[in-house]
Amino acid sequence: MTETAGSLFIISAPSGAGKTSLVRALLQSGLSLSLSISHTTRPPRSQEVNGRDYHFVSMDIFQTMLSNGEFLESAEVYGNLYGTSQKWINEAVLAGQDIVLEIDCQGAHQVQQIFPRAVAIFVLPPSVEALETRLRMRGQDNAEVIQKRLSAAREEVTHIREFDYVIVNNDLDEALGDLLCIIKAERLRRERQLLKYRSLMAQLS
Ligand code: 5GP
Repeated sequence: MTETAGSLFIISAPSGAGKTSLVRALLQSGLSLSLSISHTTRPPRSQEVNGRDYHFVSMDIFQTMLSNGEFLESAEVYGNLYGTSQKWINEAVLAGQDIVLEIDCQGAHQVQQIFPRAVAIFVLPPSVEALETRLRMRGQDNAEVIQKRLSAAREEVTHIREFDYVIVNNDLDEALGDLLCIIKAERLRRERQLLKYRSLMAQLS
């Protein structure tokens, strides 16, 4: 299944670039979008809710799902496994929904192989200092993990050419505005418009 009536929006970013806040704001913006909830072997953080933020599963369950081909894509990120449910994506695609995938660069690459028309968006922090400050402010990682995340961020940025759009998240409202522009432009693509307005086109032709 490589053609979709709706669009697939892949959003990737180094950890601390503010991607999660941006996606949350996007979902509250009023645009009709479906967010894919990933499966992960990572333990939940204090505010996270199973089924809302992730489907938190054991390593055994994840491995079984993986060998049963239940993931559209999967990757190891910071020592934990993450995967996107193939079944959920198939259902959302069939329903013609616009789908948001908040996944890392490895996953983005795998999805682009299957859905070449997926729109891939990379979110950058405004500076390395801002990234480091955000990682510290989250109070979620120790100094060693923060250093690991910073070097992982440098590695992730090397994949930026695989993305269609780049948003610099200096100010959340501005970044959200940029993201909305991308999504709205995608919805105005000829193929989608001709599908949506086929009776108008039939009258006019
Ligand atoms: P976190 O554990 O901080 O929520 O996420 C760590 C990284 O894993 C982030 O870059 C996030 O986008 C990525 N991630 C979350 N879910 C998935 C997924 O289903 N597949 C892939 N490939 N990456 C994911």
